[in-house]
Amino acid sequence: MGLDDKLVRKKLEVLLKDELLVQKYLRVYGPKLDMNNINKIKQDQLKAAPDGAAGDKDDPTYIIKVKCPVCNQADLACYEAKAKSLTANLDKFLVPRYTGVKPFRTVNYTLMAVTVCPSCLFASPDKKDFLTFSVQARAENKSQLSPFVLEDLRKKVDERKALINSPDFTAYFQHPRNTEAAINSYRLAIHRALVEASLETPLAWYKAGMYSLKIALLLRDGGKPDDPVLKDAAGYLAKSFQQSELKNPEMEYQLVYLVSALYLRLEDQAQCQNYLGVLDKMKSELTKAAKDDPGITTAHVDRWLDKAKELWTDRETPDLWKH
Ligand SMILES: [Zn+2]
Repeated sequence: MGLDDKLVRKKLEVLLKDELLVQKYLRVYGPKLDMNNINKIKQDQLKAAPDGAAGDKDDPTYIIKVKCPVCNQADLACYEAKAKSLTANLDKFLVPRYTGVKPFRTVNYTLMAVTVCPSCLFASPDKKDFLTFSVQARAENKSQLSPFVLEDLRKKVDERKALINSPDFTAYFQHPRNTEAAINSYRLAIHRALVEASLETPLAWYKAGMYSLKIALLLRDGGKPDDPVLKDAAGYLAKSFQQSELKNPEMEYQLVYLVSALYLRLEDQAQCQNYLGVLDKMKSELTKAAKDDPGITTAHVDRWLDKAKELWTDRETPDLWKH
C-alpha cells in the first residue's frame, strides 16, 4: 500500500469509524476519497441493518462478497464471525454451540457458516475455497482448490442439484437459513470434500468428517436421530487417520479421540477399544522417546487419552451424549 493509499485509509477510518466499513469502501471504490461515496456507503449500511445502525452493532457476523470458483457467479454473501464475538461450547465431538460475547448477540453461526452458490451448488464454509478480492493488492485471489478438483466439480453440478429438493436454490439457501437448509448446505460441502478425496487432496476426509459432525449436532438439537450421520463421520475420520492426513501430532491425537468417541456412541465397543489402544501406543512411544529427549512431552497425548478413557468409564451414564 502506497503512502497516499495509507492516508486515504486513515481518513476513512476517521470518517466511517468502522473497520469493516473502511474495508468495504476500499473494496468498492478503491483508495480515493469521495464524500458522496462515503455518504452512500453509510446510507447502505443503515439500510442493511434491520433495526437501524444500532441493531447492527450487536451482530457477531459480517458479510464479505465472494465469487464461485466453479461457475464464476459473483456477489455470493459469505458470513464471517467477527473476532472475539462468539464463544464456543463444545459437544463430545468437539462441535461448537455458540454464545454471543457482550455486546454481541447470540447467533447459531453453524446455520450460516457454509456459503452456497445458488447457480451450481458449490458449497464450502472456507472462504479460501472461493475467489475473494484482496483490498491490499486490489486483485482477485484464486481458490485454494486445485484446477483438477474444480474441473471435476464443474462436471458434477447435476449430482449436487439432485441432493437438494427445492425449485428455488437462491431462496432456499438465503439467510436466515432454517435448520434443514443448513444441514443441506453441509451435505453439499461433504459432496465437495468427497470430490477432493477422490483426487487425493490433503485433509479431504477430515473435512467430510467434521462437516458430518456439524450435521449431527443440528439434528440432535432439532430432536432428530443423528446415528446415520455419526456413522458417516466415523468412517470419514477413520479414513483420515489411516491416510495420516493430519501432519500435526496434537491434531492427530484429537482425531483418534474423536474416532474412539464416535464408535463408543455408535455402540461399537471393539472399534472404540481399538482407537483407545492407538492412543495408548502413541503415548508409550512418546514416553520412550522422552527418556532420551527431555524436550519431548506427553502432555498433549495425555489430554486426549484421558478424555477418551473418561468417556469409556462413563459409557453407561444416561445423557452422556445429550449435551
Ligand atoms: Zn457456482
